Amino acid sequence: MSLQKVTNQNLDANLKSLVASEREILAEILIHIVEVERRKLYLKLGFSSLFDYLTKSIGYANGSAQRRIDAARLSFDVPEVIDKLESGEINLAQVSLLQKSIREKQVISKTKIDVQSKLDLIEQLANKSFSESEVLVTRALDIQLKEQIKTNHQKDESVRLEITFSKAQWQKLMKMRELLSNSLPNGSNWDQVLEYVSDKIIQQKDKTRVVSRSSTVKEPKSSQGARQAIPVNVQRQIFRRDQCCQYKDKHSGKQCGSTWRLEIDHIQPIWSGGSNKLENLRVLCASHNREVYRWQANLSQV
Ligand SMILES: [Zn+2]
Repeated sequence: MSLQKVTNQNLDANLKSLVASEREILAEILIHIVEVERRKLYLKLGFSSLFDYLTKSIGYANGSAQRRIDAARLSFDVPEVIDKLESGEINLAQVSLLQKSIREKQVISKTKIDVQSKLDLIEQLANKSFSESEVLVTRALDIQLKEQIKTNHQKDESVRLEITFSKAQWQKLMKMRELLSNSLPNGSNWDQVLEYVSDKIIQQKDKTRVVSRSSTVKEPKSSQGARQAIPVNVQRQIFRRDQCCQYKDKHSGKQCGSTWRLEIDHIQPIWSGGSNKLENLRVLCASHNREVYRWQANLSQV
């Protein structure tokens, strides 16, 4: 499509009309994301999270996926967000900023921000620039915006990481480094401090690792409510065999494969006669374990 012969007036008018359609489509997309979230469809399709699904299956870049999730979640409480995005009064970056700030404020103050305050904030953001919105939101919520964590992957595969800590978090880190100063040859180098701590955690918590001390493997939380504990040596075998979440979408064959918050699941639940034998056990991530249990519980009521 060549636009070389289009008049200036038409070029401007066409672009405006295209952008208006883009906003309409965005509103539709957000409504779809809300429904995907409500149904937890991403779990059914073999993804460990909504973010995982939007980046790997839908094809959004990380930032684009996160902004849409933020907007969709804010619209759960304040559906007006969608209309305001569609009309162009506010944009996705502002909504994402607001949702992140609300989340941070709720964590700090340990209280929920009510729907009316959220709505007031959205109304104040109308037709403001992004930097004006930053000032407005941080003042209204009395918070300081944390810089995003930055990771840069370099050509030798090393990684540069930039994180902002709160004062209290930083004091804890300094204390940790001080305590480790005797255990490490170059105790003041943060990369070595973090590696040392990582090794300790991996030794203690990595369930797929071969461990010799039985005390290092904790009882898994079983949402099936199995009273009879799975023997520790069986747990180890399961984690070593499976390594990651084994949930698979029956239609596409897509396996979750998440290595986050792994738990042991009974394929046939204990309450319907399932056993603690190896072949009835598998590793699932916490999200799939919970969801599979919900499906089974619902089915059993039918
Ligand atoms: Zn999973």
